[in-house]
Amino acid sequence: MSSKRVIMFDYDGTLAPFKQQRDQAYPYPEIIPLLNKLMESAKNRTIIISGRTIDSLKKLLSTKTLPELWGCHGMERLSLDGKYTVVKIDNKTKEKLSEIRRWIVDQHFDHITEKKPSGFAFHWRGFREDKAQEIRNKVIKKWLEEIKSSGLSFHDFDGGIEIKIDSINKGNAVSAILNENKEKCYFCYMGDDITDEDAFAKLKGHGLSVLVNSSPRETKADIWIKPPEELIEFLHYWL
Ligand SMILES: [Mg+2]
Repeated sequence: MSSKRVIMFDYDGTLAPFKQQRDQAYPYPEIIPLLNKLMESAKNRTIIISGRTIDSLKKLLSTKTLPELWGCHGMERLSLDGKYTVVKIDNKTKEKLSEIRRWIVDQHFDHITEKKPSGFAFHWRGFREDKAQEIRNKVIKKWLEEIKSSGLSFHDFDGGIEIKIDSINKGNAVSAILNENKEKCYFCYMGDDITDEDAFAKLKGHGLSVLVNSSPRETKADIWIKPPEELIEFLHYWL
């Protein structure tokens, strides 16, 4: 890689506003031309690192060409040359994931569950508070103890809870990217959610981490900006 700048984005809540219909969560209108500009510039390496699958990201992005995509918190990877790779998982974890998959069907949770190679995300955006709490309690009560020895763990996010492979997280994705860019580089990571905190932490001392959120919160990020206006302003400045 000869890029002198590496800019990494989370997707939902960062480049795109949240939508109850997750397949309708397109980027803010100003974002697509800015992503195109970033990708046209040879000095920038542009990466989206999302909890979504790569397949789901591809359906929402209308850029001229696809940026580099890291899906399922970094488990899947699609390079600019179209090469797709996915991290292999062990049999014990695979079996536990199948068990959870059967439970989801039994509980009629299919419609609220995002099924991914890395695990399952239960979504309750737009639900009443008590209904959301009921789902969360049910998932935790059933699986808290059971997943401990299978390399899986729980992660709260804005609008749901996820059971995922513990070793796969955005912090490890950022570490891998830092290792790939050995020469002097400017790094920036932008994200809105709790799962982005791992990435903010790994970037400490290497680059700028940006919390993109409508309100501030306790964070490891260096700065806080509000989407979409300040995000757009930031990207113009970066370019
Ligand atoms: Mg997000």
